[in-house]
Parts: sequence; C-alpha cells; structure tokens
Amino acid sequence: MTEAAFAPQDAAALLRWYVDHGIDETIGEDAIDRFALPPPAAVAAAPERASATPAAPTPIRAPSAPAVARAPIPLDSPQLAEDAREIARRVTTIAELEEAVRAFEGCALKRTAKNTVFADGVAGAPVMIVGEAPGADEDRLGKPFVGVSGQLMDRMFAAIGMSRERDLYITNILFWRPPGNRTPTLSEQATCLAFTRRHIELARPKVVVLAGGTAVKAVLNTAEGITRLRGKWTTLTLDDGSEVPALPTFHPAYLLRTPASKRQSWADLLSLDKRLKDLGVR
Ligand code: URA
Repeated sequence: MTEAAFAPQDAAALLRWYVDHGIDETIGEDAIDRFALPPPAAVAAAPERASATPAAPTPIRAPSAPAVARAPIPLDSPQLAEDAREIARRVTTIAELEEAVRAFEGCALKRTAKNTVFADGVAGAPVMIVGEAPGADEDRLGKPFVGVSGQLMDRMFAAIGMSRERDLYITNILFWRPPGNRTPTLSEQATCLAFTRRHIELARPKVVVLAGGTAVKAVLNTAEGITRLRGKWTTLTLDDGSEVPALPTFHPAYLLRTPASKRQSWADLLSLDKRLKDLGVR
C-alpha cells in the first residue's frame, strides 16, 4: 500500500495556504516548475528591423507550433510589446484591431483564459471606459464588465442617463483574465498596452474614463496612485498625436469593497456629465 503524501490536516493547511496566496483555481493536473523549463517556444524570433520599410509583425506561433531555428521569445520579453505596437500601428479599423487581438499569442494570459474579452457597448460612443482585466464572469461570457462590478458600473452611469447600449464603449487594458483575478504583471500590461492605445485612437471617444489604479497607471504611464488622481481631468496624448480628455476614477470593484468611496465616484460622474455638456455632447 502506498503511503499518502500528506496527512489530511497537512493537505488542508496547504490548501488554506494556496487560497491565502490568491491561488484559487487549478489550471492543470500537475504543477509546473517553470524555473526548470527552457523558455517556451511560443513565439518566433524577433523580426529584422534594419530596413527602412517597417518589417511585418513577428509571426507569433501557438505554443504547440514546431520550434523555429532562432531563439524563442519568452512570454515576458519586451519584444512582445514591440510586436504588439507594430501590429497595432498596422490596423486601421476597430474590427481589424479586434481580429489582431484575437489572433495575438504573445500574452501568457491567453493560455489560461476561456475567451478573449475585447469590448462592449457602442464603438464610437462619446465615452470610452477602460478597466483593468476581465474577471470570471467576463471570461465566461466574453464581454467586459458584466459581473457584479460591471453591474454597479451600469447603475452608476444610468444615474447620469448613460448606458452601454447607447453612450458607452467599454474595454480593459488586458483582453484575457489573469488566473484567480490576480493583478496583471507589468510585463502583461506592457504587452497589451499598444492595443489599448490604438483602440482609443480608433474609437475616437470624446472622453476616456479610466477605472481603477491599474488602468490609470498603465494608460497614463504614471506611478501616481488612484487616490491622488481620481476626479482630476488630464489629457491623454495618443501615438497619432490626437488628444483626448481622460478622467481617472475608482474601480467599481473597489467601490463594492469600500462603499464610503461612492460619494467621490458620484462627484466624478457629475464632473463627467458637466464635461460632456461643455463639449456639446449631451
Ligand atoms: N474588472 C475590470 O477591470 N474589467 C472587467 O471587465 C471586469 C472587472
């Protein structure tokens, strides 16, 4: 008879430890020691960049594709952000961008997500909301902000007469759910940021609402915290030189945990309403 690897109480303690550390779902049957693995042969080598004409974006291969002769790019390589920038530069419509994002294999999160969560609402709406990353409900349904925090967000915008069916376009800085809803790493954020910036350029909203500290830091490229920045309008300059007013505000998930902060978010919504009226949008 083989001996159990753990006494039941030790196994329970280990499970508790996992949960305490945010590990709340299993992804594979066996644990993977990533330190013992060679870099994944997930992507092709860097494109040659010597010529004056821009090279085609690096062909990014699925993990099961045969290894190429040149060294593979690890999924936390800055090269992937550069590839994403190049792909983003080439697309000229939101539909093309969506197709490119869905085909992109350079973000490790895609491997564990069920769906690519691109956007919801009306492309071209006056207000574009940019959140952090899909959660479990969004991953299941393939749409951003459809879980409890999204429902709170819908009610908040309804209070100023706005809806995702008519006035809002909604996306995230990440298109795939981080396992266990952990905060996306800086490398994951950096890889996807070019898509988000291009998304804003192509959607041409009158204003951008940045929901939560992670989206604010990534999109505005700032280290300043959300508590300091919320409610303060700033100007987001995009890569094509266009400028769009941006309003940082608390993430609705934070408001669910800290209802006392809803007062400040209400002030942000009133400020948004006023700004839209000043712009002649409402
Ligand atoms: N939180 C986000 O930041 N985005 C979503 O789509 C859902 C929850």
